[in-house]
Amino acid sequence: KSRSQKCTVGCPALDRCLGGGVPCDSVTEFVGESGSGKTQLCLQLALSAQLPPSRGGLSASAIFIHTEFPFPLRRLRRLSRSFRASNPSLPCPDPCDRVFLRAVHSAHDLLRAIPAVEAFLLHSRSPWRPVRLLLIDSIAALFRADFDNTAADLRRRSALFFRISAGLRRLARRFGLAVVVTNQVVDFIGDGDVRVGNLETGLFSSGRRVCPALGLAWAHCVNSRVFLSRDEHGPVKTRRMSVVFAPHLPHSSCEYAIKGDGVFG
Ligand code: ATP
Ligand code: MG
Repeated sequence: KSRSQKCTVGCPALDRCLGGGVPCDSVTEFVGESGSGKTQLCLQLALSAQLPPSRGGLSASAIFIHTEFPFPLRRLRRLSRSFRASNPSLPCPDPCDRVFLRAVHSAHDLLRAIPAVEAFLLHSRSPWRPVRLLLIDSIAALFRADFDNTAADLRRRSALFFRISAGLRRLARRFGLAVVVTNQVVDFIGDGDVRVGNLETGLFSSGRRVCPALGLAWAHCVNSRVFLSRDEHGPVKTRRMSVVFAPHLPHSSCEYAIKGDGVFG
């Protein structure tokens, strides 16, 4: 079991599935199709990081790097209102003030954001230090536009992944950050072995076989990978979180639901 500190996602059932929350000093990826709850989880994490360690948080602020526009400020505000109501004794009157936003428009832009984040962590005079959580929602969106599927482009893309992920892991270790990136899924093509537990995992989700976007080169760049899926076909619509691989956890999974004021197990 890992000894690194964890940040609660703000839901006991999901925390249990994750072994206490998302780990510090590490890069965790949430992969799932559109509407599976990646953004909602990131927003909720940005708030729950503010909780004291006695309540599973980090007593810390978050940097939220967003690649999709506009940033979902109204959703953050809504979550923040219920977060504030259930945690009236937190030091910050408006929890949204502890979420530092940065927009990123391309993969190269993200690469440039890494030293900017580092400079911010070293030199910021904000009263709301420290920052212990770095969210990137979503990484796949950055690579959709700029790259074709030619061999040269794939090599270029892998080289860029590697530089980005090396930068993220270095930040995580140097500043004790929990780094969370989200990734989308693409339809699984081919007849390979599709099992939870493969790096290039495919899942049956809404009747489709899907696997994480960005392929194996990126899979090796994250420390833990967590799948979010929706089953729309049964009598009850369910959502499921599955830990695909993580150095500190066995495979595990749990169901969850999404409401306007949070993600619940
Ligand atoms: P995408 O890959 O398209 O970014 P996502 O995985 O980030 O999708 P979310 O945006 O977190 O998914 O949405 C999860 C669920 O949250 C949606 O299915 C919907 O039920 C709910 N939701 C979406 N937008 C809002 C909103 N503005 N207010 C409240 N709930 C929302
Ligand atoms: Mg999203």
